[in-house]
Formats: sequence, structure tokens, C-alpha cells
Amino acid sequence: MYLVKGAAYAHTHDDYNRYMASLTNVNPALAAYLNEADPALWSRIYCPRDRYNIKTSDIAESINSMLKKAKGYPITYLIEFITKKLGRWYWKRREDALSLTTTFSRGIELLLAVREHYADMMTVKRIDGWCFHVRGGQRDCLVDLEAKSCSCGMFGVEKISCSHAIKAAKSARWNMSTVVDGYYRKDYVYASYAANIMPNVEHVPIGPYI
Ligand SMILES: [Zn+2]
Repeated sequence: MYLVKGAAYAHTHDDYNRYMASLTNVNPALAAYLNEADPALWSRIYCPRDRYNIKTSDIAESINSMLKKAKGYPITYLIEFITKKLGRWYWKRREDALSLTTTFSRGIELLLAVREHYADMMTVKRIDGWCFHVRGGQRDCLVDLEAKSCSCGMFGVEKISCSHAIKAAKSARWNMSTVVDGYYRKDYVYASYAANIMPNVEHVPIGPYI
């Protein structure tokens, strides 16, 4: 499973090929099965679209846990329960996004702080206006701030700067907002939850029409 996970989460083709070669050595039937199952469906590096290559099951687990309270009731109650709960979640997340004083969402700010900590231990040499050679961490990398890419692959796949790109941006005195995709800004978080989820209100006449 360590090798399957490594291939699934790899940020570069080289890493993917290395994990798959090791898997082929220890379990050729499993490697053949995964290749036949189409790597575009289960590996991050072969995923044909951005956004869908960010692997997380957190929201599915949250919804599953929330539904436990409504299981066993008639379907109409279940639908009403989901509508009310999602309405509350949307409102709370909108309020939370409005209260942020940072540029990006909470999760991204935390991730950037952790990566910046590692970036501070790296060294950098500027190659030209956009390109940098960053040394340190798990590997030495070439960062291209214009193409928003790093040879570790993380920057290009996630659209969030890796430690190498943070080091390059800091050395060039670039603002961090230029090396993280706009989709991670707090206004996008707000926009994601901008719509109200309205409860189903039945229109029952109160009295006889005249
Ligand atoms: Zn990198």
C-alpha cells in the first residue's frame, strides 16, 4: 500500500514511475491491475484536470457523520434534515470567510506557514529574472516563477507554492499572493458559500379565499 499511495500521490512522472517500478517488482499482478484501471482515475500526476487532483475525503466523511442522526427516518425527513444542516453550514462558512483578516483561507495560510518554515532553511541562487535554483529539503529544485512551476512538481499540481517557490519568491521580495492561485483566496471561499439554501416552505392557505 505504501507503493500504491506513493504512485497515487506523486507530483512528478519520475516519482510515479519509480513507485510503479517497485510495485511491479513486489506485486506484478497489482501493478498490472492499476495500469488497466487507468491511472488518470486514481493518480494525481495523470489526472487530466486541475482541482480534481486534490485528494481528500474529509467532506464525504463529515456528511456521513452528520447523516447518522437522521438514519432510519422516512426519506422526506432525511431531505429536510440535509437541507437545514447544509443551510446552517453555508451560513457559518460565509460568516467565517467574512471574518478572515488574511489573504487566503485558514487552511492555506497554515500550509504556507509550515512550508515557509522549511523554506527558511533552504538556500537560493537567482538564475535570471524568473528562474531560481533552490537547495535544501528533500531535493534541490529549479523554480520558474513566471511559469509557476518547480521541479518537485508540487507547485504546478497544487497551484500553491512549495517551500522552494516560497524561498524563491521571498528572495525576490515578491508578495506571497503572486505565487498562490487566486482560487485559494478568502473571497473565493466566501463565493463558494454565497448562495442561501432555502428550507422547503409549504404554501398552505390560512383561511378560505374570498
Ligand atoms: Zn518545489
